[in-house]
Amino acid sequence: MAFPITRLRRLRQSEQLRSMVRETRLSPTSFVYPMFVCPGEGVRKEVRSMPGVFNLSVDEAAKEAKQAHSLGVPAIILFGLPEKKDELATGAWAEDGIVQQAARAIKHEVPKLIIMGDVCLCEYMSHGHCGIVRAAHPQSLGAAVAAPPPVTTDYEIVNDASLELLARTSISLARAGVDVIAPSDMMDGRVGAIRNALDHAGLASTPILSYAAKFASAFYGPFREAADSTPQFGDRRSYQMDGANLREAMREIELDIEEGADMIMVKPAMPYLDVIAAAHDRFDLPLAAYQVSGEYAIIEAAARNNWIDRERVMMESLLSIRRAGARIILTYYAKDAARLLA
Ligand SMILES: [Zn+2]
Repeated sequence: MAFPITRLRRLRQSEQLRSMVRETRLSPTSFVYPMFVCPGEGVRKEVRSMPGVFNLSVDEAAKEAKQAHSLGVPAIILFGLPEKKDELATGAWAEDGIVQQAARAIKHEVPKLIIMGDVCLCEYMSHGHCGIVRAAHPQSLGAAVAAPPPVTTDYEIVNDASLELLARTSISLARAGVDVIAPSDMMDGRVGAIRNALDHAGLASTPILSYAAKFASAFYGPFREAADSTPQFGDRRSYQMDGANLREAMREIELDIEEGADMIMVKPAMPYLDVIAAAHDRFDLPLAAYQVSGEYAIIEAAARNNWIDRERVMMESLLSIRRAGARIILTYYAKDAARLLA
């Protein structure tokens, strides 16, 4: 029955009616707040391209975590800026690594807060890649002269050897009090390797949230400043996904589930809402999405110019991610949005 019998505006007349028929609601219980931990004491250094986001020393991180929890945010995810970087990502898996220290301090300060640990090697590698790097096999002189290799074929990110370091990192984080292991490196087989390692270390109850469909995205720009993890050469396109591929994203997710992931993630969020929706239709695991640094920076920059209404755009962006099907949202807005929802 069409107009004039049907008038959709009838249910939009008042906030009470609009609220009654609202299909999607945001709640702070969906939010995960990302934090960057750095060496030192009393350090609270704002990330230039992410106003309102800080590099925090362990003591400051504990305070920040307590505040997020008091606002109703149930979880944080930790990233680390180590004192030193090397070719084996020692800082990622060392017992006194920066994230391990932070996890212990935060667990002590706020025992009920869920601590997720991002598992990757890039922040701890001197070259800034997410796995072990090996120079590619030298070509014959004739071939090299005929077709000089582009920079991207001069080296290789070694998949299987990297798995060992990722597994070692996961065990170390779980032992330090990290509740959820979240691998973000995009090596093949890492979820299985991590599950196996955790189980053999007596950590069978530690869940894995896998960054299952992580795209090679320009929206990560500001994060690399925040986590000091810019690759020193090349890019991450040989392991992170091509932004054009939805079907491949479904395969990535499927494989991570087969390997033992307990929760899955799509990253970034807003430029990939269709991927979130497709994953939500297809898989029954709790689905997370990461509203990444570039998504945050764009909103902040426009708001600073008074070109947009910051609060409304912030809430609309989070609502769109929720509506697409993400149950869990990793967002730098976790605290601000929780305040508005209170
Ligand atoms: Zn990485």
